[in-house]
Amino acid sequence: MIPHLDLKQVNKPYSESLQAAASRVLASGWYVLGREVETFERNFADYCGVKHGIGVGNGLDAIHLIFRALDFPAGSEIIIPANTYIATVLPITALSLVPVFAEPDARTYNLAAAQIEPLITEKTRAIVVVHLYGRCCDMTPIQELAAKYNLKIIEDAAQAHGATYQNRKAGNLSDAAAFSFYPTKNLGALGDAGAVLTNDDALAHRVRLLRNYGSEQKYIHQIQGMNSRLDELQAALLGVKLPHLDADNRRRQAIATRYLAEIKHPTLSLPPSDHIHEDVWHLFVVRHPQRDAFMSYLHQKNIGTVIHYPVAPHEQDAYADYRHLELPLTEHLHREVLSLPLNTVLTNVEVDYIIETINNAPN
Ligand SMILES: *Cc1c(COP(=O)(O)O)cnc(C)c1O
Repeated sequence: MIPHLDLKQVNKPYSESLQAAASRVLASGWYVLGREVETFERNFADYCGVKHGIGVGNGLDAIHLIFRALDFPAGSEIIIPANTYIATVLPITALSLVPVFAEPDARTYNLAAAQIEPLITEKTRAIVVVHLYGRCCDMTPIQELAAKYNLKIIEDAAQAHGATYQNRKAGNLSDAAAFSFYPTKNLGALGDAGAVLTNDDALAHRVRLLRNYGSEQKYIHQIQGMNSRLDELQAALLGVKLPHLDADNRRRQAIATRYLAEIKHPTLSLPPSDHIHEDVWHLFVVRHPQRDAFMSYLHQKNIGTVIHYPVAPHEQDAYADYRHLELPLTEHLHREVLSLPLNTVLTNVEVDYIIETINNAPN
């Protein structure tokens, strides 16, 4: 079986260094908010070209903390892509803000300016862009809209570590960016972890306070915060993997290049093949009108696939209030998408087999 993703194999090349880092933390006797976190925050922010990095508990909290720090009045409208993981939506509704779902661009499946502008009202305060599947949104037109209507932009960069847009990294394309280091991400910890990046000094300061009980000085609380800290252990482990991120992403790009050039099947739609080397291919998502049949064919041939995602946020039971919305393209995508195996440990022989098996698939 070629699994969609085997995390044990993904982390194996770094095994010795990860164990050494874990031992270092164990021996230090210091486990929360210390030098490991500071070092990783600095290195990850530098890698992305951003002034401030703040390590937090996970990607969801990173988005939540950005919205807490921005402190929009309740009822403010936030434009988000309808085609995203539920983590983009949860912080908005948790903070009594109103998510306004935008249909994706039909070619890239990403949020785009043309779909955003008609949704802007006088209550709109921000746009959340999600660089879905590892490809950056087309940011220049979105930045122009934000300037025109005086809106903040927040990046959900949980799938885009190292992705670039016009030579700038994901995380450096907005007012503040949220990253997840969930184990399956392009830069993955061995547990939950996340970060907020921003060039805004005041916003960075607020996020720093908020993630640690609203406190800078122990037992002195300036604001009502929460506990969402990146721990020393995960920071040390991430520090081992960060220097390999670019090479890992290049391997992903090489596999994507082959899939795009060599998969030829009449009823299968492939992702766009421009910007191959700016996209970091967190997922390689194809579409098939008989997705479930195609998926079982691949499983019979021992190729593991996953659906990202089977149900759109506005169609989830958790968001029954939004079920009346009609977002036909988003709903259509959720019925047709399928993610092929694409990861750093896939061998060339496995890539050959996947391509050949797909090219021989019945229509
Ligand atoms: C993974 C992911 C998140 C959430 O990250 P967690 O660390 O699991 O909380 C948010 N948004 C997107 C697009 C993601 O893929």
